[in-house]
Amino acid sequence: MNIKQEFIPKSNRNRPGAKITPTHITKHETTNKSKGANAATHARYVKGQNAIDRSVSWHYTVNDKGIIQHLPDNEMGWHVGASRNCQLIGIELCVNSDGDYEKAKQNVAQLIRHLMAIHNIPSSRVVSHQFWTGKNCPAGLLTQWGSFKALIDV
Ligand SMILES: [Zn+2]
Repeated sequence: MNIKQEFIPKSNRNRPGAKITPTHITKHETTNKSKGANAATHARYVKGQNAIDRSVSWHYTVNDKGIIQHLPDNEMGWHVGASRNCQLIGIELCVNSDGDYEKAKQNVAQLIRHLMAIHNIPSSRVVSHQFWTGKNCPAGLLTQWGSFKALIDV
C-alpha cells in the first residue's frame, strides 16, 4: 500500500506530540464536495494556519488516488473533541465531486485493514466520529455503515 507521508510540522500547535497507543480507529468524512478537495488539498490544509486556529488535526486523508499521512500513528491528533482524542487514529475520507468515491472507499478500507493488523485493533473498535460525539460524520458512510464494515471484516 502506498502511503505518502507529509507530516504536520512539529512546531504547529495542532501537532501536540503527546504519545498514544492507538486502541480505536475513527472514521471521518471531509464534507467538502468541491472539485479538487482531495487528499493533497487537505494535506496542505492540516499543515496551515486555518487548521491551527481551529485546533484540528488527524492522521490520514484518503481519496481515490491514494493516502496521505499527516501524523505518526503514535501521536495524538485533534479530531473528536478534547476529552476523547486519546488513543484514536483519525482518518478523513474525501468526498470531492471530481473524485471516485467508491474507489476512495476501497482505499480507506485497505488502509484500515492495514492499521488493524499492525496495531492489533479489532473491527469492533473501528468506529465513526458519530460514535463518540453524535456528529453526523462520516455522513456518506453512515448511510452504508454495515456494508462499509463488511469491507474491513474480511
Ligand atoms: Zn468527523
